[in-house]
Amino acid sequence: MSEFLVVLRHVTKIYKTHERALLPGLGDLFEKAKDVDSFRALFSKSNIFQAYQGIRETFEAKREEFFHKDSLTERAKFLRELVFKEDELAVSALLDISTEFESGEFAAIAGPSGSGKSTLLNIVGSLEEPTFGQVIFEGRNLEEIREDDRAEFRRRNLGFIFQAFNLIPVLSAFENVEYALILKGVPGDLRRSRTREALRYVGLEDCMHRRPVRLSGGQQQRVAIARALAVDPKLILADEPTANLDSKTAVAILDLMEKINRDKGTTFIFSSHDSMILSRARRVISLRDGAIVGIDHKKTGSVPGIETPPLGRPAA
Ligand code: ADP
Ligand code: MG
Repeated sequence: MSEFLVVLRHVTKIYKTHERALLPGLGDLFEKAKDVDSFRALFSKSNIFQAYQGIRETFEAKREEFFHKDSLTERAKFLRELVFKEDELAVSALLDISTEFESGEFAAIAGPSGSGKSTLLNIVGSLEEPTFGQVIFEGRNLEEIREDDRAEFRRRNLGFIFQAFNLIPVLSAFENVEYALILKGVPGDLRRSRTREALRYVGLEDCMHRRPVRLSGGQQQRVAIARALAVDPKLILADEPTANLDSKTAVAILDLMEKINRDKGTTFIFSSHDSMILSRARRVISLRDGAIVGIDHKKTGSVPGIETPPLGRPAA
């Protein structure tokens, strides 16, 4: 049993126009092929062959090497390296990310636009699957949760806050929060009292019957926070939660997130590219082109670029 809330192991996400065709397709071929020759025969007939001449050539040159790898992990690694050589075929949105999040953390993912922040949060939140690697939540490999059960897993464990607030426009603030509890199956009276309590907690008692259009950006984000909070999640993932807000409102939102973290022990992982917002995190993981380029612990003030193990724990 893992002592961490979330562990990422070699998480790699390759986005590409033909990702869906390429990777599972090759995977099928690898399974069917008994040896190098049958692989070649199958490969030359497949449409992957047509689309990926470049990969084919590289693969041809290295095929002995591939078949000498005896574990699936090794083969996946080989394949990944192969794909990455073909620049025009793949965007490595995340490249071999390994890190852990402790329960109760208030951590940030930093990095310029396109560095992989949203991809990382989406993968931790099981909204997207890694191409390679694993996400372990409370000791459980997310891979093992069937697609049908993912939504239930999210409802049980996670809250989401987005840059664009993502409220349902035809519902009032109250109904937006209540809806999350309906999905979770919380019965009537309890549901309404928890909705009220969450909205009171974020300071929206007086306008909880307004629709989003009649609320300011900061108020809308408070509704979104109340919605996340009401389900009592272990982890709240917030993707650039302040990017659409003025700096004063942004600070108030951070204050609120910090208060939840302190009062309720809810773990937060939020992303931002704003240094003022990032300075509020207790740990900042910096991404550049999908890779970790630094982990900065506020208390220890470690050097960016050098991975610092969590306090009191030896490096892996
Ligand atoms: P950030 O949130 O830091 O701006 P993203 O995680 O959104 O970064 O994107 C990381 C990289 O992956 C970018 O190069 C982006 O263009 C690419 N990307 C993100 N989503 C997709 C997608 N669905 N299809 C193809 N490429 C994507
Ligand atoms: Mg983003």
